[in-house]
Amino acid sequence: MPDDGPAQECSCGRRFVDCEHWNEIKERLLGRISPADLKTNITEFEFSTNRYLNRLGKEAYHWSRLNGLPNGWHLFPNKMKQLHRVNQMLVEEILTMENNRTFADSSKTIDHALYLSAIEAFDFHVIWLVRDPRAQVSSALKYNAWNVAEATERWKREMENNRRVLEGVGMKYHTLRYEALCREPKEEMVQLLNFVGLDAAKFSLDFRNTTRHIMGNRSMRRGTDTKIAERRDWLNRLSQEQIKQIETMTTDYQQYYTH
Ligand SMILES: [Zn+2]
Repeated sequence: MPDDGPAQECSCGRRFVDCEHWNEIKERLLGRISPADLKTNITEFEFSTNRYLNRLGKEAYHWSRLNGLPNGWHLFPNKMKQLHRVNQMLVEEILTMENNRTFADSSKTIDHALYLSAIEAFDFHVIWLVRDPRAQVSSALKYNAWNVAEATERWKREMENNRRVLEGVGMKYHTLRYEALCREPKEEMVQLLNFVGLDAAKFSLDFRNTTRHIMGNRSMRRGTDTKIAERRDWLNRLSQEQIKQIETMTTDYQQYYTH
């Protein structure tokens, strides 16, 4: 594997290791923390380099948050405070560099919402991006050796778990439907900005008019279009029987469907 693939490249066009913006953030953060703060992977909220202790730390974290224990209770209280403190500093340094007050984290797992929502300095909002279950199952089948029934069950469990965590902890959240975002991007973005308390009047779909330093989805970041293409390849990838099977298993999940 070459070491300068798309994943290593910032949206400014440089590799992350050569990007002045990210290097400056790194230097500023290193000036505020000690080497002990970086023994575990901070942005992954790793409690220990020992995977059993790490697992135990994560389980304890979930348990305490979902059972309403005071924010700050933990099996490893000092480690938890360190994870919160260093993540807060990282966000602070990024915001200082960008002269901004709003930070978006594009994590895919609900765990990250759970961790970040506990940092009291943040006015934390969750944008829950959902998609038609048929598209989700089709996508899961591409990357896993599951059959349709298993992929559908897993999707249902994930939706239930996300809702349980968001509502159990009382996070502020907005459900954004992928298909709606593709079809009516401006309207959906205005709703989203109102939800997080930002000025929707200043919003433009032309988000590439200034140099950015963004990670993730490279073709989207570096492209020139202002449209978001809705991927509907599931219509060809799934057979009629498979589509029927997913629909039968998800009759109680109509709010996620787009027809
Ligand atoms: Zn950059």
